[in-house]
Amino acid sequence: MTIGVLDLQGDAQHHATLLESLGEVVRPVRGPRDLEGLAGVVLPGGESTTLSLLLESAGLFAPLAEALAGGLPVLGTCAGMILLARDVLDGRSDQRTFGAIDLTVRRNGHGRQIASFECDLDLPIAGAGPIHAVFIRAPVVERVGPDVEVLAVLPGGTGPLRPEPVACRQGRVLVTSFHPELTEDRRLHEVFASMVRGDLATTATP
Ligand code: GLN
Repeated sequence: MTIGVLDLQGDAQHHATLLESLGEVVRPVRGPRDLEGLAGVVLPGGESTTLSLLLESAGLFAPLAEALAGGLPVLGTCAGMILLARDVLDGRSDQRTFGAIDLTVRRNGHGRQIASFECDLDLPIAGAGPIHAVFIRAPVVERVGPDVEVLAVLPGGTGPLRPEPVACRQGRVLVTSFHPELTEDRRLHEVFASMVRGDLATTATP
């Protein structure tokens, strides 16, 4: 079972290292042929506008969209969450998304003062005990579609939804607005690996 990590820009290596430490075979995804035979794929943090452009120029956008529409399990973190969302606020006009999860997210929605922060969150799907969450110029989830399951919230929060959803799942799509790959805690990646293996019951597909 091979899990791809999109490796065009941004934080691919930490995801790869974490998944490898869980015993998964990891392949960097840089072009369409790298998608062949994947059991799952990770879209890392970075800059969603740049990633959108690079996905196009690498010829990856259309085949990846097709794979996601066909049910390829995907984990999107921060910019990856933006790329998977149905609607993006404060994006660039030419920024494209896969619309794989029924969310509206606002880019850089935490504002400049608290653009980056860390906190402990409950993530019951990953087991007992808080998970340490690192937010870096994170998007804010402003709308959650009826078929989306909210897995973790930020007490208080910034946007119109309070508490603010920061980890969500719909079908085989798992997203976080924080960076689970930047801590030693592997539980979120274990949840994703279970989704890839089909061990974790999935919710309604988009
Ligand atoms: N602000 C970035 C964007 O809009 C996301 C930041 C991140 O991935 N850490 O894409």
